Amino acid sequence: MSPEHFDVLIIGAGLSGIDAGWHLTKFAPKKSFVILENRERIGGTWDLFRYPGIRSDSDMLTMGYRFRPWTHQSAISPGEAIREYVTETAKDAGVDKHIRFRNKVARASWDSATARWTVEAEKRDASGRAETVTYTANFIFSCAGYYRYSEGYTPEFKGRENFKGQIVHPQHWPESLDYAGKRIVVIGSGATAVTLVPNLAKTAHVTMLQRSPTYYVSRPEKDAMANVLRKFLPASWAYAIPRWRNIILQRFFFNRARQKPEQVKEFLIKGVKDLLPDGYDVATHFTPKYNPWDQRLCLVPDADMFDAIKEGRAEVVTDHIDTFTEKGIKLKSGRELEADIIVTATGLQLEVMGGMEVAVDGRKVDFGETFTYKGLMYSGVPNLASVFGYTNASWTLRADLICEWVTRLLNKMDEKGVQIATPTLADPNMKPEPWLDFSSGYVVRAVAMLPKQGPKAPWRQNQNYFTDIKEMRKAPIEDEALVFSKATAGAKPVLARAAE
Ligand SMILES: Cc1cc2nc3c(=O)[nH]c(=O)nc-3n(C[C@H](O)[C@H](O)[C@H](O)COP(=O)(O)OP(=O)(O)OC[C@H]3O[C@@H](n4cnc5c(N)ncnc54)[C@H](O)[C@@H]3O)c2cc1C
Repeated sequence: MSPEHFDVLIIGAGLSGIDAGWHLTKFAPKKSFVILENRERIGGTWDLFRYPGIRSDSDMLTMGYRFRPWTHQSAISPGEAIREYVTETAKDAGVDKHIRFRNKVARASWDSATARWTVEAEKRDASGRAETVTYTANFIFSCAGYYRYSEGYTPEFKGRENFKGQIVHPQHWPESLDYAGKRIVVIGSGATAVTLVPNLAKTAHVTMLQRSPTYYVSRPEKDAMANVLRKFLPASWAYAIPRWRNIILQRFFFNRARQKPEQVKEFLIKGVKDLLPDGYDVATHFTPKYNPWDQRLCLVPDADMFDAIKEGRAEVVTDHIDTFTEKGIKLKSGRELEADIIVTATGLQLEVMGGMEVAVDGRKVDFGETFTYKGLMYSGVPNLASVFGYTNASWTLRADLICEWVTRLLNKMDEKGVQIATPTLADPNMKPEPWLDFSSGYVVRAVAMLPKQGPKAPWRQNQNYFTDIKEMRKAPIEDEALVFSKATAGAKPVLARAAE
């Protein structure tokens, strides 16, 4: 029996996969498509993470889809509400009917002669029994996110096995964990730690143990303007106005951080100081060594973490771990932190294309050796696009633009009567630069396996919504770097290798 065939095979039913399905339904309605999803539900990140207080760390007015107003009262939203929003979007557009759950894509191989991908997925039934299912597709659209679902990142901790209490990673929060009245040490200072600390501190005593401080900014959980406008204006207007206000302000703030880092540093640190008790050691615990936006800025809704510190429910310790002990953690300074539970909020493990193996005409693709074309396709890899959002703004702003661009590309290929689109380097010696200009641990750890970027468009990752609108929404699809060809022409794309 020949494998089931689709025009487009989407990987992942998270925020981006549903965005992709929505765009295909609206703008390329004749294309057949399937969404293969490893999990049992829609939502990706917002289904996986279940730790106490899980919420967005950017505002949903910019993290919502461009085409669907966010109408929840909270702009910094609980994870559950985001999952419902994505699920409702899928249902309303009929995208949910295209999803096949419990299908993990393992491998994809491209054949230029037939202009087709052959895709192997591991399909599991409800009892967990697995079989390999093969599909074919003209185009793969990977919406598989950017990190490994099976395991978060945990550094090697000396003496870990000695600890008699419980060690928990936020990516796999045990639903039944009873932490009320317990002593908890949260290792980390990023978005997850800063969400967990005030929420756990409602019923437990929490110590946030960090190696070095992070920049924080406190913003109201509810957006007053959006909530008032919704009473008087149609939902689309009440959404668009504060959304554009936020997009512009966030860009202004980011530019300012790049141009005048000292000024922005002072502003952020003063903001934190004002929320802490007089005499608090802000220099040690809240003054990072890097410049603002060299790593993602962390949002604290309604100053909840600072309130927990003020009220003595939470404490911040800046030190290095020497070893785990029976009772807790011994620090390099000699201090010992006793704990019943240790939470390792130590981050994610980045993963490219949901961990699937990709081959083009029999040759394995190492994405670390490719250049990204517009930050969505890869040099020498035909008919494959993926979503990667912004690091300095909401993910969805870029996901929307990518989904729109891909539907335009598919329509353009039909119009031209071609079956293959391959980003192709004119200069094989183009100097590779890291894709992400970010010093966060999870990015630094993964630099080698991530695709590279070049010095200018279309090989440059802009991290700028306004430039991307010009280059992705307004610019013609055809350019010199995107080579179109026909299946019968037997085009054999050669994998472009980025020079080390
Ligand atoms: C805790 C946390 C909080 C965050 N908060 C924000 C925020 O506030 N603002 C922001 O802009 N960004 C935030 N992010 C980034 C966030 O991941 C994105 O905003 C967004 O949810 C990504 O959506 P996605 O659909 O692209 O990827 P994901 O949400 O990761 O979804 C990917 C989907 O693909 C599936 N999948 C992966 N591999 C395969 C495979 N091989 N086969 C089949 N299916 C596969 C997964 O099961 C999953 O359902 C946060 C990330 C985390 C971890």
